Amino acid sequence: AQPDPRPNARPDERAGAAVKAADRAHVFHSWSAQELIDPLAVAGAEGSYFWDYDGRRYLDFTSGLVFTNIGYQHPKVVAAIQEQAARLTTFAPAFALEARSEAARLIAERTPGDLDKIFFTNAGADAVEHALRMARLHTGRPKVLSAYRSYHGGTQTAINVTGDPRRWASDTGTAGVVHFWAPFLYRSRFYAETEEQECARALEHLETTLVFEGPGTVAAIILETIPGTAGIMPPPAGYLAGVREICDKYGIVLVLDEVMAGFGRTGEWFAADLYDVVPDLLTFAKGVNSGYVPLGGVAISGEIAETFAKRPYPGGLTYSGHPLACAAAVATLGVMAEEGVVENAARLGEHVVGPALRELAGRHPSVGEVRGVGMFWALELVRDRETREPLVPYNATGEANAPMAAFAAAAKAHGLWPFVNMNRTHVVPPCNVSEAELKEGLAALDAALSVADEHT
Ligand code: PMP
Repeated sequence: AQPDPRPNARPDERAGAAVKAADRAHVFHSWSAQELIDPLAVAGAEGSYFWDYDGRRYLDFTSGLVFTNIGYQHPKVVAAIQEQAARLTTFAPAFALEARSEAARLIAERTPGDLDKIFFTNAGADAVEHALRMARLHTGRPKVLSAYRSYHGGTQTAINVTGDPRRWASDTGTAGVVHFWAPFLYRSRFYAETEEQECARALEHLETTLVFEGPGTVAAIILETIPGTAGIMPPPAGYLAGVREICDKYGIVLVLDEVMAGFGRTGEWFAADLYDVVPDLLTFAKGVNSGYVPLGGVAISGEIAETFAKRPYPGGLTYSGHPLACAAAVATLGVMAEEGVVENAARLGEHVVGPALRELAGRHPSVGEVRGVGMFWALELVRDRETREPLVPYNATGEANAPMAAFAAAAKAHGLWPFVNMNRTHVVPPCNVSEAELKEGLAALDAALSVADEHT
């Protein structure tokens, strides 16, 4: 890692030690055994980089948790938050406010089809909660179908529809949720050998599941347009259009969860645009304002909005459409348009990241598959390319994960902060990353993969 020349990046080991001591004593961290973790104390961040109190700087190939789509501390967004704070820091949701109206208008303009009404939440999980509540009230049906390979959030309904093993510990088994297999050719559940077979069999499996559940009991099918946390698995051509058709046939609400894939991540404003599919409800968060102030929401179709035109929608949040969060969204969407951030993600994804990752896969036996689009890529690391045995047990939950830990440590030693989940590393830098930054990160990734190779 390189020392950073900026003044606020000067090493201050004593300050770092105090931050870590207070963290250890009082912060209860997500998804973790509290005594088995050792969080890095972060002193600052700018653009695609952040740095610690020891003066080590890291190139962030994780975009935080895949949310800093325009990088850290963009001056225009920071200024917009400061201006909004000076004018009107907070206000209750049942009023019309400039920042809120403008954010809703800009989001509605970007979302596909007639998703023209925006219900604001504080984050992704509560967006999923409300989307499913709307679908149940709209249809008068209780059940929801969702994919095993998915992550939809940590609140109760969101974790119930999630397929990721993190569901197991909180599954109440009473939420009316039925899981199914969405397509994923590399680890096909359908013995498929081509994308076409995988697509056709996955659609048949979904419809059969639906028929056996009783279509008249199913309110919604929820899918991540491109499943993210579970492995960045772009669906085969035709799959989402097929799901849309099934939903239309049985009067089921299609919810596309774009909390991770939305707002430029895939090189389109929304991943749904890649597949020309319009859902009835679309959930978003993260990239809407690059995570500068917590914000999420549901974009709602005309038909579903109509259900709640004369009858109240029974749900809300104290901070729905918080002025600071909405001002950050307005500024972020402005920056994305002015600076061509979505186009940057598409162009560098296609011409730099994709070719470079495929080239790395050619040289590193630990890389089983490369997949992705835009600034949304995954490398599947394996012990054996033939058998596709993952570098760690596929359903590892909190088990020691030595090969991936060694891989991550090597990346960090080369100044790259990698995203690691089970046997995968995801390449998800900010959507406004530069070509030079990408090349720097890809060189570090090359070195780290050599460490992963030792475990093949
Ligand atoms: N849906 C998807 C697709 C996500 O990726 C996430 C978060 N990673 C969530 C929902 C939950 O969002 P949050 O953590 O903001 O509640």
